[in-house]
Amino acid sequence: MAETIKELQPIETRLFINGEFRDSSSGKTFDIVYPYSQDVVAKVQEADVKDVNDAVDAAEAAFPAWRDLGVDKRGEYLRKLSDLIREAIPKLAKLETLSTGRPISLFPDGEAAAEQFRYFADHAWSVQGTASTNTPGMFKMTVKEPFGVAGLIIPWNFPLINFAGKMAPALAAGNTVVLKSSEKAPLTSLYTAKLIEQVGFPPGVINILSGYGAPAGSTLAEHMKVRTISFTGSSLTGQKIHAAAAKSNLKHVHVELGGKSPAIVFEDADLQSAAAQTMFGIQVNSGQLCIANSRIYVHESVKEEFTKQFKAMFASVKMGDPLDPTTQHGPQIDYLQYNRVKEYLALGENEGKLTLGGDANDGFFVKPTVFEELAENSRVIKEEIFGPVVALQSFQNEEEVIRKANDTEFGLYASVFTKDLDRAIRLSKALQTGTVAVNCTSPSNTKDAAFGGYKMSGSGREGLLYSIENFLQTKTILIKST
Ligand code: NAD
Repeated sequence: MAETIKELQPIETRLFINGEFRDSSSGKTFDIVYPYSQDVVAKVQEADVKDVNDAVDAAEAAFPAWRDLGVDKRGEYLRKLSDLIREAIPKLAKLETLSTGRPISLFPDGEAAAEQFRYFADHAWSVQGTASTNTPGMFKMTVKEPFGVAGLIIPWNFPLINFAGKMAPALAAGNTVVLKSSEKAPLTSLYTAKLIEQVGFPPGVINILSGYGAPAGSTLAEHMKVRTISFTGSSLTGQKIHAAAAKSNLKHVHVELGGKSPAIVFEDADLQSAAAQTMFGIQVNSGQLCIANSRIYVHESVKEEFTKQFKAMFASVKMGDPLDPTTQHGPQIDYLQYNRVKEYLALGENEGKLTLGGDANDGFFVKPTVFEELAENSRVIKEEIFGPVVALQSFQNEEEVIRKANDTEFGLYASVFTKDLDRAIRLSKALQTGTVAVNCTSPSNTKDAAFGGYKMSGSGREGLLYSIENFLQTKTILIKST
């Protein structure tokens, strides 16, 4: 680890405001700790209210010229950034592993981020309005326009994907941005700020802040000059963002939030495939995934066989140093997250039967964990744990399992394993989630899918074909003619 930290020096820790790196106005810093060894990797500047205000002022000043630059010229900047991100993937992967403890072999983020900037560089041409002469004497058209300053707030799991998934469409649409990364994972955002400086974006177009939910995130969410906010994180913080927007300037809000995703395995499913996929769906990134299939409902006639296969695979994942490319299972990101998972481990032992795993009693590691026979109203079934903890429940019939799967305030992702096409179609319609996957499960997705939540899992959609809409408003222009 020491060698990796040395190799990455100097690690950027400053705020990026108005095209310049600078220390925080308060002089405060916070530590980034490698979750595996708990060594301090970097001391990062913490944005205060003044820094947020400065960043928003810079973005506001830069907006008219960026908006008026046009798609081709904005695209040139985005394409250059895409190329630099792609070249930097090995470094970005190491920085993410050091701050989050995610196994280094799992870094789709770099390619995904590069792709977002490349795609939106050209896709902005598809931003079009309508025109009509339906009303006599009137020529009507609509045009789509950027909001102005966009506030982007991202979480710590898969930060670079969220960074690019929001920033690329926001910029392509002609907005200027202030992004606040998570206090747990700011390093890849700051490294990308260096690439942004290298590209030479006009000062103020992109501002990148590191800091906590309060004061940095909350100041951005309630800022009177921020006209739209795009947020990914927990449902609880999503509610705070909506409240802050309502209390300030009713800014446009787009939120991608938490989940408690059900996977349903029918008796006719390919059990081996269902077990392997659902195992990965809850194990990947140590369960710290919004779409993790944390509730698995298996038909009672195949529950025993499925459980045997599932547990054998789940128990055999290799835990270890996330910098080791053969490691599959890293620690939880920090003490807070580890403790949160531990609380659910204790609850699960009271509410049901622990049949695999539990606390690893080794740093922030939690072993792949299975609970069975939980009451459907238990907290382990109802709440997002964000750890490698799965509820393996049985069911008797379709109607019952649909009711159980939908009996949640979340609605992000659901999956169904069956060979019966009619049943797959029925379930796809009945499940109240933004995505229903048939014979596959999280993290399966396609780039052109609309990604987002029903109910308390969010509003708005992200994806190559959808994200730009979150950063545009529609204007009608009426021209009276004789
Ligand atoms: P979080 O809600 O704690 O924090 C997310 C971001 O919001 C961080 O940058 C944080 O500093 C900031 N924040 C916190 N309080 C704030 C406030 N009052 N005002 C403004 N900003 C504030 O979430 P997290 O722990 O970073 O991430 C995990 C959560 O994110 C899980 O619930 C997960 O399901 C969800 N998530 C959802 C998606 C999705 O696409 N639906 C993707 C990834 C993660």
